Amino acid sequence: MFAVLKNLGWFFSRERKRYLIGIIMLAIVGVFELAPPKLLGDAIDRISSGTITFQALMYYTGAIALIVVIIYGITYIWMHSLFGGSNLVERLLRKRFMAHLLRMTPPFFERSRTGDLMARATNDLRSVAVTVGFGMLTLTDSTVYLLTVLLAMGFLISWKLTLAAILPLPFIAISMAIYGKVVHSRYTLAQDAFGDMNDQVLESIAGVRVIRAYVQERQDEKRFTHITNDVYRKNLAVALVDGLFEPTIRLFVGLSYIIGLGYGVYLVFHNQLTLGDLVSFNIYLGMMIWPMFAIGELINIMQRGNASLDRVNETLAVKPDVEDIAEPVHVEHPDEITFDDVVFRYPTSTVDNLQHISLRIQAGETLGVVGRTGSGKSTLLKQLLHEYPTGSGELNIGGVPIQHIAKDELHSWLGYVPQEQILFSRSVRNNIRFGKSDASDEDVMAAIRTAAFDTDLHTFPEGLDTIVGERGVALSGGQKQRVSLARAFIAQPHILILDDALSAVDARTEARIIENIRTERAGKTTLIATHRLSAVEHADHIVVLDKGSIIEEGTHAELLAAKGWYHEQYERQQVSDSLDEEVS
Ligand code: ATP
Ligand code: MG
Repeated sequence: MFAVLKNLGWFFSRERKRYLIGIIMLAIVGVFELAPPKLLGDAIDRISSGTITFQALMYYTGAIALIVVIIYGITYIWMHSLFGGSNLVERLLRKRFMAHLLRMTPPFFERSRTGDLMARATNDLRSVAVTVGFGMLTLTDSTVYLLTVLLAMGFLISWKLTLAAILPLPFIAISMAIYGKVVHSRYTLAQDAFGDMNDQVLESIAGVRVIRAYVQERQDEKRFTHITNDVYRKNLAVALVDGLFEPTIRLFVGLSYIIGLGYGVYLVFHNQLTLGDLVSFNIYLGMMIWPMFAIGELINIMQRGNASLDRVNETLAVKPDVEDIAEPVHVEHPDEITFDDVVFRYPTSTVDNLQHISLRIQAGETLGVVGRTGSGKSTLLKQLLHEYPTGSGELNIGGVPIQHIAKDELHSWLGYVPQEQILFSRSVRNNIRFGKSDASDEDVMAAIRTAAFDTDLHTFPEGLDTIVGERGVALSGGQKQRVSLARAFIAQPHILILDDALSAVDARTEARIIENIRTERAGKTTLIATHRLSAVEHADHIVVLDKGSIIEEGTHAELLAAKGWYHEQYERQQVSDSLDEEVS
């Protein structure tokens, strides 16, 4: 049941001082709280025996007032330590969670759903934090405090009466344990459902344009109603057990009162107890209600925390699909890239997505990758990112197998413009500086000129400070592509990978960018995948892919002479290009 606390042992030992202070203060408050009932009992005894004086009355009220003030101060300290710790653990865990997500490679994100990950990072971590704060409080109150009250009842009043009154206690513990188990399983289901719902919301919002365009609003609403109903039902199931905790405890506490009062009056009649003692005892019994509730709360909250922490840990336990080896090899000159009989398959694929690829790209060369859609162009380029476990064959950079290169080092050489651009909702400048955080405005402008984005930039009233909107919604497709290009250019990477990065710009702009790339990147390696053959005409070597295999390769001239797929495609594009010219 306390797995969650054990699991967070590192945190408690790190914050040992905080918790020690908190718990000791809580215990001290418990002791102080014992005094007023006893003082009250004594006062009543003196009233009933007629020995009370004005001075004595002043003493009793003064003492009680003083104790209340002390309790006020101490309570502040423990509240501050315990609940402050709960916020701290939430922050630490969330940081760890995020850092973990950033280490993960694409296969992980293909398996997980964003909404569910978000639910874990928010809802579940909150629940763990509550467990740490409120759980610690209830843990202390249901043990230390309960014990203090019990000892006070026994020693100050009567052990006989105390033992009789706590007879129902074990039953509370037993029923709480039973409820706790149910809460755990139901709460896990409820949190899972919440994750599903999050996912659906995310998808609907991201796809709202498509949903509208296809008039699927009703359909989507229905799906959403369905899933919120699911969340509702599962949380209702939790609430049903939740609701049992309190009445059950009240039942047994009521029993305690009956025993305490019945047996207490009996003892008073037999002169084994004074009236004042009975009053004090009943106040102590009242003070036991909270610790008994605390037992229930403790179990309830621990089980929720366990369920949530299990979900968080499940994510944290996932190892990156591609991990650095223990002693990575440092590559002096990451120049030559060689593929030697590389066969690769995505983890979820049933066929080989690259078949027997052998290639040699010398330093400073430009490689063109063409082929029909789905032929494996992106897959081939992405091999260099080493995002997926490698297949058979060997891929070397600078003579070192890619598995032996540290990922950070590998990525420091690469500039990558993916087929789907990802921009962040920041300014144009900051999106570009993403490639090189210390870049000056001149650097940014130079990269923008290389990417032929300068003419567009003039049309933005705020220039570099223009905010591109979420994922770049405020830019056109071609503008997004060129901002992505500039982001890759600015770092002047050793190896530049352009995956269909010019597909959304017109032929003239494309020609300009290609020309810039040729001059700017002379002596550096560039890999270009494209559907438009004009973008690779200048390449030193061109490969044509089909179903993951190289079916033709050579220079532009050689491939034209071979009269294969490349030639045919080239002719077709020439015709359509000249048609375009006539139209425009
Ligand atoms: P396009 O011209 O449309 O960009 P492409 O040549 O870049 O196509 P790839 O994206 O490399 O094609 O895809 C090659 C094959 O690999 C396709 O059959 C595709 O279904 C499969 N594939 C791509 N990505 C994944 C993935 N993450 N998991 C499983 N299969 C994938
Ligand atoms: Mg592709």
